[in-house]
Amino acid sequence: MTGRAEEPLPERAEVAVVGAGVAGLSAALGLARGGAGVVVLDRAPAPVPEGPWAATVGLAEHPGRLVAAVGRSAAAAILRFSVEGLDLLAEAGHLRRTGGLALAGSPAEVDEVRAGAAVLADLGVPAEVWEAGRAAAALGGEVLVPGAPARFVPAEGAVDADALVADLAGRAERIGVRLLRGAPVIGIEDAPTGVDLVLPGGRLRAEVAVLAAGWSLASLDRWFADKVHPVRERSLRVDGARPGVVATTAHGFCTLAPDDGGATVRGCRFATPDLGVGATDPHEAVPPVEARLADLARALLGKAATPRSAAGHLATHTCDGLPVLGPVPGRPRLVACAGWNGRAAALAPRGAAAVAQGLLEGRADGVPALMRADRFV
Ligand SMILES: Cc1cc2nc3c(=O)[nH]c(=O)nc-3n(C[C@H](O)[C@H](O)[C@H](O)COP(=O)(O)OP(=O)(O)OC[C@H]3O[C@@H](n4cnc5c(N)ncnc54)[C@H](O)[C@@H]3O)c2cc1C
Repeated sequence: MTGRAEEPLPERAEVAVVGAGVAGLSAALGLARGGAGVVVLDRAPAPVPEGPWAATVGLAEHPGRLVAAVGRSAAAAILRFSVEGLDLLAEAGHLRRTGGLALAGSPAEVDEVRAGAAVLADLGVPAEVWEAGRAAAALGGEVLVPGAPARFVPAEGAVDADALVADLAGRAERIGVRLLRGAPVIGIEDAPTGVDLVLPGGRLRAEVAVLAAGWSLASLDRWFADKVHPVRERSLRVDGARPGVVATTAHGFCTLAPDDGGATVRGCRFATPDLGVGATDPHEAVPPVEARLADLARALLGKAATPRSAAGHLATHTCDGLPVLGPVPGRPRLVACAGWNGRAAALAPRGAAAVAQGLLEGRADGVPALMRADRFV
């Protein structure tokens, strides 16, 4: 067990990190390696179980749509950034490179899936089109649209998120990061020589605060209120079938990730916009949503896939679908590190590394301009 809640709050820190998820812990580790004195605060008394993640390149949407939205060179920069993120995970021993399949969820998606392989390859990410039989064999199940080809990206894979969080926390603490759990930040105040983080039991003055608390930032500081928001995701753990690759479908808004004994299928509100309307509690089961997930698991993995347990969480999405990284405009002591839009595996470790480098060296290499907090000026 790391960081006990009863540990006293220090009065001062060089850097305070709010949030001990993958983003906050990765940033803390990078900063401490560079010699900074770091305190991490998390309101939860213990890490929340996350299960297996599908670690995929880019954003949820098909690559062709990304190019149409932001242009070729910005799309290439975003993809490169995410590939670097997967490489970081692999170097740390946390990415199992199974390769990833993008599957059409309906006949309307078939052309986008096929065309996306050429777009990715053109932008520097190796990708192939696989005919349906090969994709089904790699999956250990079935493609969703009979006969439809799939896109295969060798760089993708699966991450055991709970092992990742535990490893990051352990490594951070071993090099001197103070990790305080059960430590909710309830206010952020600019101060003449830093920033004050207000907690129920006192306040911590930091020279700089890294804000890695996900969607909660909307209520913690006004600047984030119109930039980050939660999106409800539900997960279904199935036994009896273990896919050989990770997979995404429904324009990337449903994912499938293998783990040791089976697999987890996930879907978010964007995949089922007509269902679960009004449900904001991630732990509330909405029967039609659960039924869709069970259908998806059986369609992909066959009848052997037996639903075992369902869970939910809130992912952090942003107003323009891109992460928010770096100093908040006009307030250089507040540094944003959030907003992975359901693609935390690749984006959070890489985004956090950039935030740490930015604070240590005054420059953050390779961060696409469209991901920087100052794009909102
Ligand atoms: C069940 C589950 C499945 C997922 N599946 C995938 C997947 O397949 N692929 C993928 O890429 N990503 C996946 N994710 C990642 C997810 O969508 C998020 O993007 C990711 O967890 C974000 O990491 P983070 O560190 O930015 O924020 P979080 O992990 O949300 O961490 C933020 C931390 O801040 C703390 N906090 C919040 N407010 C305060 C406060 N006021 N004071 C102090 N602390 C505070 C919270 O307690 C939390 O620990 C999954 C996550 C979960 C939980």
